[in-house]
Amino acid sequence: MRRITIFLLMGILFIGPSFAQTPKNHSPADIFHEIQKLNFLGTALYIAAHPDDENTRLISYLSNHVHARTGYLSLTRGDGGQNLIGPELRELLGVLRTQELLAARRVDGGEQLFTRAVDFGYSKNPKETLEIWDKELILGDVVTAIRKFKPDVIVNRFDHRSPGTTHGHHTSSAMLSMEAFDLANDPKAFSDQLENTDTWQPKRLFFNTSWWFYGSQEKFEQADKTKLLNVDIGTYYPILGMSNNEIASLASSQHLCQGFGRLSSRGTEEEYLELLKGDLPQNKSDLFEGINTTWTRMAGGTEIGAILDKVESQFNFKDPSVHLSDLVKAYQLLQKINDDHWRELKSKELKAIIEDVAGLHLEAFTTQAFSNPGESIELNLEAVNRSNADIVLESVSVNGEKLLIESTDLKYNELFKKQLKITIPNTTNYTSPYWLMVKGTLGTYTVTDSELIGKPETPRAFKATFNLLFDGVNIPITKNVSYKYGRPDKGEIYQPFEIVPKATSMLKDKVLIFSDGTPKQIPVTVKAHKDHVSGKVRLEIGDGWILDSATQPFSIEKKGDEQTLVFTLTPPATENESYLTSIVSIDGENISKELVTIAYDHIPTQTVLMPSEAKVVRLDIQKAGQHIGYIMGAGDDVPTSLEQIGYTVHIINPTDIDENSLDKYDAVVLGIRAYNVVDELSFKQRYILEYAKNGGTVIVQYNTAGRWADQFENIAPYDLQISRDRVTNENSEVKIIAQDHQLVNYPNKISSNDFNGWVQERGLYFPDSWSKEFTPILEMKDEGEKATKGSLLIAPYGEGHYIYTGLSFFRELPAGVPGAYKLFSNMLSVGKDNLSKKEQIKG
Ligand SMILES: [Zn+2]
Repeated sequence: MRRITIFLLMGILFIGPSFAQTPKNHSPADIFHEIQKLNFLGTALYIAAHPDDENTRLISYLSNHVHARTGYLSLTRGDGGQNLIGPELRELLGVLRTQELLAARRVDGGEQLFTRAVDFGYSKNPKETLEIWDKELILGDVVTAIRKFKPDVIVNRFDHRSPGTTHGHHTSSAMLSMEAFDLANDPKAFSDQLENTDTWQPKRLFFNTSWWFYGSQEKFEQADKTKLLNVDIGTYYPILGMSNNEIASLASSQHLCQGFGRLSSRGTEEEYLELLKGDLPQNKSDLFEGINTTWTRMAGGTEIGAILDKVESQFNFKDPSVHLSDLVKAYQLLQKINDDHWRELKSKELKAIIEDVAGLHLEAFTTQAFSNPGESIELNLEAVNRSNADIVLESVSVNGEKLLIESTDLKYNELFKKQLKITIPNTTNYTSPYWLMVKGTLGTYTVTDSELIGKPETPRAFKATFNLLFDGVNIPITKNVSYKYGRPDKGEIYQPFEIVPKATSMLKDKVLIFSDGTPKQIPVTVKAHKDHVSGKVRLEIGDGWILDSATQPFSIEKKGDEQTLVFTLTPPATENESYLTSIVSIDGENISKELVTIAYDHIPTQTVLMPSEAKVVRLDIQKAGQHIGYIMGAGDDVPTSLEQIGYTVHIINPTDIDENSLDKYDAVVLGIRAYNVVDELSFKQRYILEYAKNGGTVIVQYNTAGRWADQFENIAPYDLQISRDRVTNENSEVKIIAQDHQLVNYPNKISSNDFNGWVQERGLYFPDSWSKEFTPILEMKDEGEKATKGSLLIAPYGEGHYIYTGLSFFRELPAGVPGAYKLFSNMLSVGKDNLSKKEQIKG
């Protein structure tokens, strides 16, 4: 149902960049809406930190009611969060969320912009954020965005005055926006940017406030509102057959990997904007008051405006093609305008409208999903004119090179078809997100081509330009080359046409843990992206590690097929960390990339080339016990990690838990947020605690306070209160406060070194109060905060043990952090130092 509504809506709102997707047909109402936007020369930029921060109600209002060109500058691509719909995390999650933002903008009519900032995970304050981001670099990117997009008004999602009350990324986005507002017009600021851009002074800066920022509805009612503007974002658009908040709901429902699919809202609703910079409008609902948003804004624009205003006021809904000659005339005049910014922007909009009123369908497609540099492909061209206008197709160019020169009259509804053979130049770049081509830092992406900075995605490698004559006036219209195919179960599908290497390789495990000196077999899977491909695979690794063979040959007959080669890797005798890289060599070309495909129905399929590498860790780790029972919670990779160090992990189905079913395990571990998401546990909790009482070890990883509280008296055998305490700096100092406890001594001696090299954070949702039976083991804190002792708590219970930990093992183990493995092994080994009674019985 959802897909159907989105499909219908796409027909309604044309706005936004058109990438390889099903071409949209536009009704006269859509075209009229396009013309309304064409005739508004004003720009708004909304600024926040993450995908889903943006207020789609306001973006849609500015785009569809005010008709402004409206952008959303999301400083990051949201790499740091979780994924509710698939396996993509980190960089790949950033790619998915980038596409979800673009999908949202296709619905609400906005455009999408980014900086090079990485979403590195939760940050408590802007000070930490701006250090990790490299403040000057990201400030420069915000200034670039303003200089290129040229907004008249800027709207901040967050308050720059309240650091510490929300995610540090949020406050930082507002602080950077405040600074950039003034710097964008200063020629001395970021002067190197001025080779490609001009300075620009926005007129007003707002903070998109609401009662929430005031603490309560009541406080907001009483607050001084002299500097507040308010707009009705529930307004109904008869032309579109939808209200603004309905469009906004559909737009934010594109953020599916964050679980933002939601019901539509309807009816009048106020949105508030607090003026931070610039002059206060008299009309408290007009953000653009006093800003010239008509065609007279550009030198020479008066005549164009007169023509286009007439088209709008006399628009013919029965036959929009009657306006073609006026639109072509306006286009011709527009080409004489000196103002590059407005000429380019309005030419693009005007061309789209000309295409629509003529019912013109132009497309360039392949029937193969991808190709390699140097290969030849068939390119299909189609053009059809569904109006009585005199339109001639003069020529077609691909990437600027004229390939088809034969003047053809596009007569009413006569389909023009042509097939061309084109060769992919050897210099063509592989398709992949530009911000992932070179390894970045923790806080920023490295982008070598400065022209790409800020762009939502890598421009497509192949574009076809149809050079058309409308009544003798030359108008070139450019289309991305797509891959088009039909599927019996889905119908017609458009996908981006990709350029990929001849073959790529993949190491199955991204982290390999060697808990002793035993060699491991390393399968390397080579995938062919063309027929008849052969070459060699080479593995590279640091000193001390030994491979049985450094290279092996491969040969694959058919495109899409795979061949797996197995290498044997022997670790060094002592602790060591290194990276294993696989390199495919074909005809002198070395490719050390893995090809990852991200495919969902709500976004265009994405192809990402990731480094083909794995982290290898030689640990000196001791362990006691063998069989671990694992009850999955919200989903984590801890079981796989435990198997890597030699444990046998049994995934327990909660419904199977009964009186003695857990006795066979040396320890029972609950996955992250198990009590939050597994309802069944409310019936099984007593068996879990009983198991501990009888001599077992129960390890509970982090849960959030809240939901389970209704169902469980307590998740622990003794009082334990979960708070929102977290330590987000992964390098923060950790003190071992229970030096003599077996948890930090047996079977592995834990020292402060074991807290080096952690990733993203120390942990979250630590308990802040507990009964005396618990022993806190560690103490830690973020800078400027008071220390917490709740990260790792252990209590004896009957003959066994109960452990509660908010430490982020679910991040550290899959990242191959040695100290985290040792500590986890100690937790699993608790009570096994002097063979417990149970162990003796087991023999
Ligand atoms: Zn956010």
